[in-house]
Amino acid sequence: MKNITLLYFLIALLSLQCSSPPPAGEPTIQTVLGPTPAEEMGLALIHEHVFLDWSGADSIRPEEWDEEQAFQAILPYLEAAKAKGVNTMLECTPAYLGRYPALLKRLSEASGLYLLTNTGYYGARQNKYIPRRAFEESAEELAARWIKEWENGIEGTGIRPGFIKIGIDSDTVLSPMHEKLVRAAAKTHLATGLTIVAHTGPEAGAYQELKILEGEGAAPDAFVWTHAQEGALEAHTELARRGAWISLDGMGWLNDQNGQVDTAALQKYLEMLKNLRDNGLLHRTLVSHDAGWYTHGEPGGGSFQPFTAIFDTVIPALRENGFTDEDIRQLLLENPREAFSVRVRAIRG
Ligand SMILES: [Zn+2]
Repeated sequence: MKNITLLYFLIALLSLQCSSPPPAGEPTIQTVLGPTPAEEMGLALIHEHVFLDWSGADSIRPEEWDEEQAFQAILPYLEAAKAKGVNTMLECTPAYLGRYPALLKRLSEASGLYLLTNTGYYGARQNKYIPRRAFEESAEELAARWIKEWENGIEGTGIRPGFIKIGIDSDTVLSPMHEKLVRAAAKTHLATGLTIVAHTGPEAGAYQELKILEGEGAAPDAFVWTHAQEGALEAHTELARRGAWISLDGMGWLNDQNGQVDTAALQKYLEMLKNLRDNGLLHRTLVSHDAGWYTHGEPGGGSFQPFTAIFDTVIPALRENGFTDEDIRQLLLENPREAFSVRVRAIRG
């Protein structure tokens, strides 16, 4: 009897340790620890930052980053998110702006959170974070670089990106550089199945991005309209109806350092979420904090905005406004899993 118990114990232990790649055909997400069944994603924050370096693509010096200091400063905030029930976090800091896969891997192992990093370039803020050679390269050449990171891992770390992150300035007409970034993102998506998270803001940019993506053959549900909280309600419903993901992601800034809630901003988020719910579009809606981040160059990394306002402030307000547990589960669990499971979403035709 005792031996059988021991046997079961050993089997259980073995199955815990064998978190090998999931079987083919099963939906997966790509975390910094490797491919992971999408079923294990759990409650997810889809747009956060742990580390940033604002030096600019020409002057950034990753060799000067203090990994140990950053690790110690960031870890408690990940643990606080974990205590709220968070299981997965997408780290949206792109290359040349402080993307730090090795640090993310350490933080993931220490916190028990799944973390995802990204490939792609951030053109917003007038291209300060775009490496010089990218101006000469074609969309195909940029895509080839990003696809290589998916295939071989990032900068020799072996850590692969879990999504594509680009950034554009949401002007009336996209600059040629930003149009090229969107085109490269579409090509990368079609080659890898990675979802495109596009820092955009107001809807003028989002409409143009979607047109370019569709022109390249990528379906709207491969596209996350990021910072959509800066866009109009009608644009939310229209683009969600077309299949795009609407990302309302600045919620980390609802609470100030003393825990005071910005009630006007909270009301705006509630209005946006009610609009999407009332139009039957909650299944296209994503929420996050866009909070964090340890800033290289500031003493102790500067002041850190926690990843908890959704739980302390937004969810109670949603409940008061008639949102059900099922709605909240959809926003934080089902939609992230659907949006970020790796698969090609091409337009059939
Ligand atoms: Zn962000």
